[in-house]
Order: sequence, then C-alpha cells, then structure tokens
Amino acid sequence: MAPRKPAITKVADLIREGLADPSQAEVLDRVAENFRIRITPGMQGHSEGLARQFVPSPQELTIRPEELADPIGDDVHSPVPGLTHRYPDRVILHATQTCEVYCRFCFRREAVGEDGALGDAELDAAIDYIARTPEIWEVILTGGDPMVLSPRRLSALLARLSAIEHVGVVRFHTRVPVVAPEKVNTALIAALRVRPAVYVVIHTNHPDELTPEACAALARLADAGIPLLSQTVLLQGVNADAEVLAQLFRLLVMNRVKPYYLHHCDLARGTGHFRTTLAAGQAIMSALRGRVSGVCLPTYVLDLPGGYGKVPVGPVYVSGEGPFRITDYLGRAHIYADP
Ligand SMILES: *Cc1c(COP(=O)(O)O)cnc(C)c1O
Ligand code: SF4
Repeated sequence: MAPRKPAITKVADLIREGLADPSQAEVLDRVAENFRIRITPGMQGHSEGLARQFVPSPQELTIRPEELADPIGDDVHSPVPGLTHRYPDRVILHATQTCEVYCRFCFRREAVGEDGALGDAELDAAIDYIARTPEIWEVILTGGDPMVLSPRRLSALLARLSAIEHVGVVRFHTRVPVVAPEKVNTALIAALRVRPAVYVVIHTNHPDELTPEACAALARLADAGIPLLSQTVLLQGVNADAEVLAQLFRLLVMNRVKPYYLHHCDLARGTGHFRTTLAAGQAIMSALRGRVSGVCLPTYVLDLPGGYGKVPVGPVYVSGEGPFRITDYLGRAHIYADP
C-alpha cells in the first residue's frame, strides 16, 4: 500500500497542498491561533463541499454581535465537568475534546482541541452522577469526537455504563466513520457490542464526504447490527441546496443510515459566513418533502441559544385553530376540520 498522507494541521501544509493561497498565510495564521486546523487525508479534497468545511477562512475573524462562545448553552446545564444534563432522560458526556478533523463551523469550536480526554477523576465524577440519577436512560458520548478514543478506552467506559442498570442506550455522535474510516476496525466494533443498546449518529454534511472508504466503514458498523443515524449542519456554500441535500440523504439511506437531524447552523463565533436564514432552511425542507422518500428526511432543528434545547423549526404546514388550513407538498392549501 502507498504510505498514507498525514493529516494537515498547519497553514503551511494548506498552502503546499494548494488548499490556501500563499498571500493569505498571515491572516490564516491568526485564524489558526483561535481555532485549530486538522484535515484527515480523505477530507483533503478541493471540492467546495469539502474545502469550505475544513480549510480556514479569513471570514472567521469576523465575530458578529449575536455570536456566542457557548452557543447552545452546554455550560448552563453542567452538573459536573464533562457532563451536560439538559433534558431529564439523557445526558451528554464529553469524553474527549479532541477530533479527527476540526470543522470551521463547529458549535463547540471554543472547547474542542483543548484538553484531550476527560481526566480520571472527572470521569469518575461523571459516571457517579449518572449512577445516582435514575432518570438518566440514555448517555450520549460526544466531544470532541468520542471515537478518537482507543477501542480499549471505549470498552472500559462502556463497561462502566453497562454496569448502571437504568442506562438503556449509549449514543455516539461521531465524524470518525466518514473522516477517518480506517479507525472503524474489528477492535472498535467489538467494543460497541455491549448491553446498553449502542446507536451511532454520523455527522456528515456533503455527498463528497461519503468516499468508498467511508461507505465501507458504515457497512462494517451496519453489518455488526449497530443502528446508524445521521446529523447534518445546514451550511451556506456547502449544502444549503435541496439538490445537494437530496443526494446526501439518499446516499446515507443507501448506506443504511437514517437521516435524523438537519441542524440550523449555531451561533458559534466567526461562523456567520456559513449561516443561512431560517426561511432558507424551511424552503429547502419543503422542496424535499414529497419529492424525496420520507425515510430520507431528517427533522430540521434549531438549538436555542442559552441552553433551552432543540426545537423543530418547520416548515409549518398547519395554520388556523380549526378549521385548519393545511398546505400539501405542492404548496396547495386545503381545509381540514376536526370531527
Ligand atoms: C442535542 C442534545 C441532546 C440530544 O437531543 P436529542 O433530541 O435526543 O437528539 C441531549 N442533551 C443535550 C445537552 C443536547 O444538546
Ligand atoms: S468533529 Fe464535531 S466536535 Fe469536532 S470540530 Fe467537527 S463539528 Fe466540532
């Protein structure tokens, strides 16, 4: 096999690979001081769908007044470090802050890349909180990206969660199967075969990410019987287009991944150039409804700033208080009255 290319982590590497212009070296170095760079070999393509997601832009230095360091309020609901408990029946465990790639629009961009894995004492405290909170039915492992942890470490973590009887589901939110598919190996898959049902939610935003290697990694997970869902961030210049999203969602379903959420782009600092309006997102969703299989359609959600949770943001098909005015997928209005 040819030697693998290394990950790109520096502005100089971007310039060498023709992904950035030498005249931008200085300004991109300033961007990289705030928000780190990492692009795995498979994601080093020049297509707009890839480059805009991973190659830093001078526009990241533009911070808009509405943008926030903690855009979805992770810290508002943190009972112990590394844990976010916003909804009664589920918690987020930030097992690590490291990722295989650093996405330019990341909603946790101020936190990722900093500290690596959660320390032993912090992990003990987080597990202890889960164990003494019987309402917690689901533990969501996120980060960073939990799948950067070694299979041995993940196995140890899952064994501890498995010992807590009220934990019924462990959900991974990860980009690894797409951006570093070689990491989905036999040892990782063996680690995921445990008693609390393991679900894997794949973060992917553009059909160009679904390389043959990525699809093979998804197949290994699906063949192991692990249910797969996806989450996609709506991004200007990447996928804010009904055709691109239709292609992405169909590809996912063909790879046995059920599209779960389409996220409106959160108010992270320096990400304004990625954000569409809500109206644009709604228009894309209504263009897809009825024209693309319902299995392919995710729910379009906004994570409210301040830590108030995720809310479906339409489009809205029902108006009035009865009789209702209901819009069909072609935009025609109908009257419907309850019996
Ligand atoms: C997104 C999120 C969840 C998961 O929400 P679901 O709607 O169940 O996918 C849970 N906790 C926090 C803090 C979140 O931000
Ligand atoms: S992989 Fe996820 S957590 Fe990591 S930078 Fe990308 S969006 Fe953020």
